[in-house]
Amino acid sequence: MTQRIFILGVPVDDVTEVEAVTHIDAFIRNGAPHQVVTLNPEFIMSAQADTRIMRILNLASLSTPDGTGVMWAARYLGSPLRERVTGVALVDRLAATAARRGWRIFFLGAAPGVAEGAAKQLQKRYPRLIVAGCYAGSPQIADESHIHAQIQGTQTDILLVAYGHPAQELWIARNQPVLGIPVAIGVGGTFDELTGAVKPAPEWMHELGIKWLWRVLLQPTRLRRIVTAVIKFPLAVIRAGRPIRP
Ligand code: UDP
Repeated sequence: MTQRIFILGVPVDDVTEVEAVTHIDAFIRNGAPHQVVTLNPEFIMSAQADTRIMRILNLASLSTPDGTGVMWAARYLGSPLRERVTGVALVDRLAATAARRGWRIFFLGAAPGVAEGAAKQLQKRYPRLIVAGCYAGSPQIADESHIHAQIQGTQTDILLVAYGHPAQELWIARNQPVLGIPVAIGVGGTFDELTGAVKPAPEWMHELGIKWLWRVLLQPTRLRRIVTAVIKFPLAVIRAGRPIRP
């Protein structure tokens, strides 16, 4: 059994990358729709302000600790998590397993051409990977029936949705049950990272857990989100206090 902890009412699972893939394998075998979340501090903060997002995150079948802020909060609350499972790392491992098992992956979202580029990069690494389809589309409700037409009939096992949070989580919650796809994952900027559209942070910044600083330098418009992740979120966690243990 996987341990699930709650940070400001939002669940996160103590899974390793390998265990996350094992869970996803079980979801595919089960066949019913399962939403997977790669959890960041911004998600937890948006859930505080929007009950729809709180509900979606609580109904997720799997919530992996993506952001370093999530790892910190778990440690602060006395329930440290074993491993970070980022969207990029999870997608890479899933592609490797998918190539062996014949799972079909659909790449939805990001700027035109980026989903195709991400799929190509993964097929270079894992030549037997089956790409069910690629489509940029948009997270607008008006675009949904058109997107359904692209996906229906592709026998997709795993749908990767890159519309950023919260649009991707809301999109999946609205559309996955209609599409009947076993696994849908909101993957944020993963396609951009895979294609090199966004220059990855240097390794030493990853190690120090200051990838956010790199992103502010590259895209100053992200500042507001970063303030949420590195200032508002820790303050909210500290203000809520540690759970009282018997
Ligand atoms: N995106 C999109 N349509 C939109 C808004 C965003 O396709 O209306 C894509 C954007 O191109 C990017 C991804 O969503 O590929 C989100 O990237 P972001 O860097 O915000 O994700 P993060 O990894 O920071 O959550």
